[in-house]
Amino acid sequence: MAGRPREVSPRVYDLVVRSRRTVLPTDTRAAAVAVSGPSIAAIASYGEHLDAARDVDLGDLPLLPGLVDTHVHVNEPGRTEWEGFATATRAAAAGGVTTICDMPLNSVPPTTSVAALRDKRAAAAGKCWVDVAFWGGAVPGNADSLLPLHQAGVVGFKCFLLDSGVPEFPPLAVAELRSVLGSLAAMDALLVVHAEDGSQVSTASGRDFSAFVASRPPVAERRAIEQVIAGAAATRARAHIVHLSAAECVAMIAGAKAAGIRLSAETCPHYLFFASEEVPDGATEFKCCPPIRGAVNREALWRGLEAGAIECVVSDHSPCPPELKSPGSGDFGAAWGGIASLQVGLSAVWTAARRRGGTLDHVARWMATAPAALAGLSAKGRVAVGYDADLVAFDPEESFMVDPARLEQRHPVTPYAGRTLTGRVRQTWLRGTSLLGPDSGTPDGEPAGRLLNRG
Ligand SMILES: [Zn+2]
Repeated sequence: MAGRPREVSPRVYDLVVRSRRTVLPTDTRAAAVAVSGPSIAAIASYGEHLDAARDVDLGDLPLLPGLVDTHVHVNEPGRTEWEGFATATRAAAAGGVTTICDMPLNSVPPTTSVAALRDKRAAAAGKCWVDVAFWGGAVPGNADSLLPLHQAGVVGFKCFLLDSGVPEFPPLAVAELRSVLGSLAAMDALLVVHAEDGSQVSTASGRDFSAFVASRPPVAERRAIEQVIAGAAATRARAHIVHLSAAECVAMIAGAKAAGIRLSAETCPHYLFFASEEVPDGATEFKCCPPIRGAVNREALWRGLEAGAIECVVSDHSPCPPELKSPGSGDFGAAWGGIASLQVGLSAVWTAARRRGGTLDHVARWMATAPAALAGLSAKGRVAVGYDADLVAFDPEESFMVDPARLEQRHPVTPYAGRTLTGRVRQTWLRGTSLLGPDSGTPDGEPAGRLLNRG
């Protein structure tokens, strides 16, 4: 465009990353992202001359906001042999995830008091390759800890409505759920709920995957979500359904939102990628709760996501040692429920999304912008001026086979093993610093992740 050259104050940026396919909040277009210190200082045109200490031109390779994964079980301290901050955040960095929010359970102690949050932070300090924020827990008897945890900076509170799988994190009864929602409404804090109704769940055993799926039917999710909606409506609290699997609940969630109830929902890569029909009997690496359901359900989840009824796609990364995940018996009753996918979630979702006409704008919204907003992380999730310079160079065409040995998570157990995924993370920047070694795709240097508070 002809005209007077724009006056630019003479400054030297620390980093400029150029891409003809920069995924911005409004659209994807050619742009140059100029970084000063930890933050995005300017979005310029792709070819603009900018003085910078480093100038990286990705050409046609897309540039995305760093992903924000609000559903990660790190398990440290206490069950660090399952997963720890170093390994989880290395997997995150390799997978294009620049912020994780650690769930309050599976570590010991669980994050249900300020003292426990302090333990968490002490355990995480100096080990994290990406930024880490923390959820608090709402359990029977810790009502007095909710406000102090909120003031200490947790991004919200997690609760269960049925057995969580670990004895130190018991579920809330319906009356307790209502009481917690009332307390959190008063501080405008978010409650995220594992929504399955224990009275609708039966005990599964044996190698038959369809029997396991049948033991946790959609009605278990439906009944629990009804309780959450009723509680949120009565208290005006903000509530969020984690890892929605039963697509029949999408209409109910959309209806509640349309009625002005402050409700949101997430689903996970494994519910969008796999279908129960393809899971072999005894393949306990596919076990998670609620379960992976059939292909028809999966397509309905995609429609819920596309329609905006489900806002977020986050991993529910929840690893454990191989002997717990894959007991030799292949018994779905005995195996730990949880799928670890921090490193492959973006590729899995992209592989499935592109087949259905999805774009990188959608993926960035589901996996970065919406989760950051959910957790109240106001500097995260967008390639925009003033936001943290958390960026991902992503090749949407490159395919690769998932080799468990190349995963950075503590234990290389994954239902994605041997799957061919399309879309590969080529570089991840955390607050303007590149995390992955040249050509290796693995983190190098020193861990420089920060421990974040809400805000
Ligand atoms: Zn979880």
